[in-house]
Amino acid sequence: MAEEKIYEMLWDCEFCGSKKLLGKTHRHCPNCGATQDPTRRYFPLDSEKVAVQDHIYVGVDKICSFCATPNGAKATFCGNCGGALDGAKDVTLRTDQGAHVEDNIQIAKVDFENQKIINEGGVPPKTEDLAFKDSKFIKPHPKTPKWVLWMLGSIVFGTIGFVCVGVLWTEKVTLKVTKHEWSRSVDIERFKPVSDSSWCDSMPMNAYSVSRRSEVRSHRQVADGQECHMVRSDKGDGTYSERESCSTKYRSEPVYDSKCYYTIDRWAFERAATAKGIGADKDPYWPNPEYKSCSNSIGCERLGAKKESYVVHFEEESGEAKGEKHDCDLDQVKWKQYNSKTLYKSDKSVIFNYITCDSITESESIEEY
Ligand SMILES: [Zn+2]
Ligand SMILES: [Zn+2]
Repeated sequence: MAEEKIYEMLWDCEFCGSKKLLGKTHRHCPNCGATQDPTRRYFPLDSEKVAVQDHIYVGVDKICSFCATPNGAKATFCGNCGGALDGAKDVTLRTDQGAHVEDNIQIAKVDFENQKIINEGGVPPKTEDLAFKDSKFIKPHPKTPKWVLWMLGSIVFGTIGFVCVGVLWTEKVTLKVTKHEWSRSVDIERFKPVSDSSWCDSMPMNAYSVSRRSEVRSHRQVADGQECHMVRSDKGDGTYSERESCSTKYRSEPVYDSKCYYTIDRWAFERAATAKGIGADKDPYWPNPEYKSCSNSIGCERLGAKKESYVVHFEEESGEAKGEKHDCDLDQVKWKQYNSKTLYKSDKSVIFNYITCDSITESESIEEY
């Protein structure tokens, strides 16, 4: 435990304006005789510190419930009004602070208000962190002007609103089918040498032409000395203690490992064969590519992944946007159900101009139309 030094807190008399009175020595204002108000205690500047010699600490002051005078923890009756002190409340302590932070009555007031908010389960307004801030002065927190908040607010809500309206505000449009389009493709894979890399401890057995490189695999935290600062703690009896508080600093250090770059024989994509067509009269078919079928020797080929896509092209039949085109990517069964002899209805986003393919329903046939 680091050495603790005791100094006097300061307080300002609210009645006669006397400043920097001593918290322990001046229980009453030496100028007007007013009783010390413990909520007006604050930490002195470094240059104004008054040490307390041979301090005997008996505890946090108690506040007389009749006249609000702070009394030493051992007192049983109020030194001011003689009232009994049993059940009297302790004075509220200031939050711990860094050693070179300027303090005054205003900051003390904010500190107590914030403590009250925290005790009630709230979050105090974010001001400069009073504790552990070793700057010479506390900078006033710049306030954002109201009009800026209003502007930001309207931009955010405006955008959300716009998107919602854009998605929800739809109109019914009539569509006709202009084209059916399909495509089916099959990948052809070849057993061949490919380049790859992995950490050497997980390199496949059949890799060859290996080259190793040292690379960063992870980071570890390494202890890197102590970080110390002075902390001032309100003792609650008109004094405060100053002691050094230290914590271990860490730095991040890279951990190197061997990375292996190698060649390996394996199945890999070689090319794709595609079949495509227009119209739904003939059934789509899979391409039937030629490939060198054999297994696990260099140059062998096999069929790989399949992909298929079925698109119906629509055009708006009437209205302001007559002739406007829309595409729907569908599964094969649905794709085939659409035909050019039928009119369809769909929801269309008024702002973003897209149709909802799921919302398409039959309208009426062209013959009756
Ligand atoms: Zn006074
Ligand atoms: Zn009293």
